[in-house]
Amino acid sequence: MSRFVESAIITGKSLGSSNGIGRATAVLLASEGAKVTITGRDSARLQESKDAILKAGVSEYDINSVTADITSSEGQDNLISSTLQKFGKIDILINNAGANIPDANGKTRTEGGIDTFLKMFQLNLQSVVEMTQKIRPHLAKTRGEIVNVSSIAAGPAAQPQGPYYSSAKAALDQYSRSAAIDLISEGIRINVVQPGFVETGFSTVARGLNAEESSKFYNTMGSLPHCIPVGFCAQPEHIASVIAFLADRKASEYIVGQTITADGGSTLVLGFHANFGQKK
Ligand code: NDP
Repeated sequence: MSRFVESAIITGKSLGSSNGIGRATAVLLASEGAKVTITGRDSARLQESKDAILKAGVSEYDINSVTADITSSEGQDNLISSTLQKFGKIDILINNAGANIPDANGKTRTEGGIDTFLKMFQLNLQSVVEMTQKIRPHLAKTRGEIVNVSSIAAGPAAQPQGPYYSSAKAALDQYSRSAAIDLISEGIRINVVQPGFVETGFSTVARGLNAEESSKFYNTMGSLPHCIPVGFCAQPEHIASVIAFLADRKASEYIVGQTITADGGSTLVLGFHANFGQKK
């Protein structure tokens, strides 16, 4: 029996040739029975995601592929209206699109101007707020689910390499908790997943690393127990399975407004753990 009989909108599918969290989530949900709307700005990469879903054995009729900028009102409206037109209802919204957007000089630290700050909040927070407002009446009809993709960058540890990104994700977490309590009275459940290091190109393509350099970066990070105790960086599928759990009412009905951290233990280690009490 299929785990999902729902219609789901998943924002953001992948970056470059990497297999992003949105794409892995779309493949997982669709292969378990969901009809999926996938989106992103780059139509070629969107087609790659569609191909990955088709390769998993899903019918073309169960995929709605919409090229859109999630920060534009028109793009948001198009996502919702085309999903309703094709599938008749909406049960699940996965707010996955997000990025640590560099400024005009390629920097992501505190030197970034207010325009960079505003862009970061527009993508990582405002688009989620807008999608939640627009989709609310449709999810109230189906007693649906929203899963927001945050980050361990939300805190409490400092994030000097991305102060605007991490602030937007922290705000996303608090918005999600508050909206979860507001909307549960309408039967809409909101939860959050906070990924740690995931091998997607998120941390490498944006920094201009090629495939070999990117692989080396993730392998090095994974080999450092004071960075990732589990011993490897996550693959997108590790996060997709947590998203699917939170989007599955039967599996997680009593979880409301919570944040699940999937980071291989990263947020639990302090620097001194690397040098103290290690097994010989
Ligand atoms: P990717 O960069 O591979 O995916 C990001 C996706 O967001 C892309 O599909 C991109 O598509 C889409 N996107 C970005 N801007 C827009 C926009 N304006 N409109 C529509 N779509 C947009 O990275 P991940 O898969 O890793 O990222 C997914 C989520 O996971 C993000 O929210 C990120 O913050 C979060 N995350 C990732 C971590 C990691 O280590 N990878 C760690 C913690 C959190 P396109 O470019 O075609 O528009």
